[in-house]
Amino acid sequence: MKTIYSPAHRAHAPKEEFEAGRLSPAVEIPERAERVRAEIERRKIGPILPPEEFGDEPVLRVHDSRFVGFLRTAYDDWRIRYSGDTAEAFPSAWPVRGMRFNVSDIESRLGSYASDTATPIGRGTIDAARAAVDAALTAAQQIQRGERAVLALTRPPGHHASADVFGGYCYFNNAAIAAQWLVDRGLRPAILDVDYHHGNCTQSIFYRRSDVLFVSVHADPSFAYPHFLGFADERGADAGEGFNVNLPLPRLTAWDSYSQALDTALSRVREFSPDVLLVSLGLDTFEADPISHFRLKVQDYLRIGRAIAGLCKPTLFVFEGGYNLDALAEITVNVLEGFEQR
Ligand SMILES: [Zn+2]
Repeated sequence: MKTIYSPAHRAHAPKEEFEAGRLSPAVEIPERAERVRAEIERRKIGPILPPEEFGDEPVLRVHDSRFVGFLRTAYDDWRIRYSGDTAEAFPSAWPVRGMRFNVSDIESRLGSYASDTATPIGRGTIDAARAAVDAALTAAQQIQRGERAVLALTRPPGHHASADVFGGYCYFNNAAIAAQWLVDRGLRPAILDVDYHHGNCTQSIFYRRSDVLFVSVHADPSFAYPHFLGFADERGADAGEGFNVNLPLPRLTAWDSYSQALDTALSRVREFSPDVLLVSLGLDTFEADPISHFRLKVQDYLRIGRAIAGLCKPTLFVFEGGYNLDALAEITVNVLEGFEQR
């Protein structure tokens, strides 16, 4: 299996995040992708290739142009506002109910476009995020050209970024941009999101459409981030009615019940009969993940890979979350190896 990887991700190295009123060290850090890359080499999963550059056009098929412009200048605007201070940019106020969307200065833009305080914008954020998009698109192109499976080792991740919202460590929605690129080439993709956290923004991008199926197995938003989307009764709207499938699971879910939900998700994908499967591959379902509460074990990731391979579809893995640095590389590559074994 080929892997698409760019060292440009290292330019995005968040130092801290603000969660529930407290300051904590960032967990979405460069070492995540570096460890996975090293493990792919060590276990000889296949060649590691650089992304090609695709330009803005595929990004603008999914994201609002003002939002893209905001991300491009946000860090510089922030530095100007704070007299050259090089600290990362964070929002501090939001236009909640009764207020107006306003993008007149950097403070209002950050509040209008951000969904949380866990997603800083630093000097290298935009370049890293664009390289991640190119990695996902290069992987999609490989699939279009006939590869059976490709991993886009994308960092920062993408599934908490919508057309005009960034958050949850995500800036551009890598998987959604790749899926749209495939749609634009006449293919019919399904997206299976197995990250611990609901892929709220991938859902919102395709919610009213029947040409892309979105299926997510995740922690119930009644206790887990992203809190405000991901419930089972969200089934799509208008033409998209029935093309959004959420399978929320309780705290401490282990393999027995996880695998049942995964089977349900896979059978829904099978019914849709896509040309291509995109997997939003989050590894934060692991039992020792520092920010999550499922109980999957190292060997379970081989089973996830085998189960996905059972669909017999060209498969594009897009790297999302997963924060236990000691296990992340092993469990990520277990999914890939399980897939290849089938
Ligand atoms: Zn996650």
